[in-house]
Amino acid sequence: MKQITESVFFIPGQDEMIPDSHVYLLGTADSKDLSLIDAGLMGKGRYKIESIQKSDVSLSDIKRIIMTHTHLDHIGCLGELRDAIPHAALWIHENEANPLEKGDENTVYGMNMFESMCQAQYGIKPGDFCFPVDRKLTGGEALEIGGATWQVIHIPGHSAGSIALYQPEDKILIPGDTVYADHAIGRFDLHGASGPQLKKSLLALADLDVNILLPGHNRIMANVPAGYIKQTAEQWGPYLS
Ligand SMILES: [Zn+2]
Ligand SMILES: [Zn+2]
Repeated sequence: MKQITESVFFIPGQDEMIPDSHVYLLGTADSKDLSLIDAGLMGKGRYKIESIQKSDVSLSDIKRIIMTHTHLDHIGCLGELRDAIPHAALWIHENEANPLEKGDENTVYGMNMFESMCQAQYGIKPGDFCFPVDRKLTGGEALEIGGATWQVIHIPGHSAGSIALYQPEDKILIPGDTVYADHAIGRFDLHGASGPQLKKSLLALADLDVNILLPGHNRIMANVPAGYIKQTAEQWGPYLS
């Protein structure tokens, strides 16, 4: 686990054939009010828990898991994390929380072909990703968690219930799979995705003053150049209409 700022820690994903999402831990150690952002791929929960245990952080201080969205590479090991920290609440945007609670796994797998492939490869069954959600986010919330304020921004496009978390004081943006380093953006061909919505969401993020970009995959960015997200949105604009 790497420390990014006083209140943000980073556990890098361990990609396989399918990527494993990064996990971020938010909150100062003395706040005893920590949040995990995302989980990761199946089988990738244990090393993340061990990584936390090797630090000064106590698992009992982790109060919640907030999902940027519920694709398989983010939610695959949510069950493993919940076994290790059963007291942690689960917060997800309502657009993905409601289907998930009903056992609708279309967003989890994104496409039918992927569903049967993953179920065969990982031995997972229909219904494995049906979780009760403790708080359904809508976007617009200001979360007072772990000694900081994080704004929830609904950014549909990559998936219907994608959210970003933004901390204005330190100019930190956690955009899930919507925008990455190296001018890359999330795919927009899966269930619930939309190119035009993704374009709108990128333009909304472009209005933020961002110094540290902590995406769901690939490298993280410190000292983000001014206009980086705007340039990325403009570069991809023709493909998103
Ligand atoms: Zn995704
Ligand atoms: Zn992802």
